[in-house]
Amino acid sequence: MPHRPGPICVIGAGIIGASAAFHLIESGARDVIVIDAGEPLSGTTPAGAGFVARFGADHNRRLGACTIPLQDYGLGFYQRLHESGADLEYASNGNLVLARTPTMLDTLADGILRHPQVAAGTRRLNADSVGELMLGAVNPAAVAGGVYMPEGIQLTTALAQQELLTRLEDAEVQFHWDTPATGVRVVDGTVTGVETSNGTIDASTIVFAAGAWNQTLLESRDRRLPLIPMVATRFVSEPAGLSPLMPTVQCLELHLWLRELRGAFSWGGSFAYRLLSALEQEGLEFGYGRPVSQALLDAQYAYQENVAEVFPALSELSAVETIQGVPVYTVDGGLYVGSVPGIEGLWALAGDSESGITHGPGMGKLVAQLIMDETPFTDPAPFRLDRVNPADYPDEASMVASMAEDRIAEAAQLN
Ligand SMILES: Cc1cc2nc3c(=O)[nH]c(=O)nc-3n(C[C@H](O)[C@H](O)[C@H](O)COP(=O)(O)OP(=O)(O)OC[C@H]3O[C@@H](n4cnc5c(N)ncnc54)[C@H](O)[C@@H]3O)c2cc1C
Repeated sequence: MPHRPGPICVIGAGIIGASAAFHLIESGARDVIVIDAGEPLSGTTPAGAGFVARFGADHNRRLGACTIPLQDYGLGFYQRLHESGADLEYASNGNLVLARTPTMLDTLADGILRHPQVAAGTRRLNADSVGELMLGAVNPAAVAGGVYMPEGIQLTTALAQQELLTRLEDAEVQFHWDTPATGVRVVDGTVTGVETSNGTIDASTIVFAAGAWNQTLLESRDRRLPLIPMVATRFVSEPAGLSPLMPTVQCLELHLWLRELRGAFSWGGSFAYRLLSALEQEGLEFGYGRPVSQALLDAQYAYQENVAEVFPALSELSAVETIQGVPVYTVDGGLYVGSVPGIEGLWALAGDSESGITHGPGMGKLVAQLIMDETPFTDPAPFRLDRVNPADYPDEASMVASMAEDRIAEAAQLN
């Protein structure tokens, strides 16, 4: 039984909101409504590269060990979808964190292999083993080695999102597309409905899952979280003859993530990321949907030859697809899943830290369990909205300063 009887309205039908609705239904909620400001698949999710791994089991990342149960849940969730016949372009080839120098290889090995929750089979590789594992995609002479995380998977994000939306339709969830929520109706400190551009929708429980737009929704109730929206870019190259058995790859020294997609490179990195606010100051127009920043596209093209030093086949390949989205970072590197303080019935899933594909299923499951009064599968305390005092971060510059240890810190500091 839901904690509060009445309709539950999820605002935002990206991977995170769709996951919340999916798990609410799975937990027995019957009256679930999903509203979205745009068309299906119009938000950040289809821009996502589709890497999923145990990224929290790495001292070099800021996610924290509390996120590992969510990653494990996500890995299992996508595997189950795949095994049930959903076409997600799913592959389970592991994830390789590449090092170009011996010093970086030691740092990676310390952070991952010495993590107390390191997954079985995680291993350090020398340059030749990297060459073999990458099935010809990497020039071994250009790397020192890497750390292989065998549990990593890859999938096509738009397909995963569409699969969830289809299952929600099958479960007779009510959708309202092209319907921006403008606020929340609150009576005596308790939510009673969602105000939208098309009128008010009654709801006794509301979940904000509006990605880059969560802050605006929170502000409609005078609430704020320290959130840092960035624009990120992904290119899909012309066909490159890559093996479908190749693992996903990250390389800190190249600020890079890269994977195989239908024989081509799907790749990007912080060389083509920038604060949304900085781009807006330069004239970027961004309402709902996905941004298009030519400056970032140019930056990625300009960087391509650096990546081709390690991945020679990428040299001079054009991009047949370019896609941008707005992941949202948090000041402590974590995720937000919990109730909005002071408003009964209002919940938020926010601050995806560019990992909403990985964490969406777990975030959705956790909020559904909290709403439905079930025992949560993991401790919700590290995800609470009130774990950080927003007053400590009066402006974006103070939020960005807190990201000093983050792999995208440099990109965030460009303004
Ligand atoms: C280039 C790139 C690569 C990435 N790679 C990875 C990766 O490999 N692995 C990984 O885990 N993550 C990755 N990410 C991050 C991941 O894509 C995001 O974390 C995730 O898609 C966020 O999902 P979401 O549901 O919060 O947002 P969205 O998909 O943007 O969904 C939010 C929805 O809310 C709707 N909305 C907004 N405002 C309102 C309103 N007022 N009323 C109603 N609806 C509203 C929007 O229309 C939108 O559909 C990547 C992101 C990018 C951009």
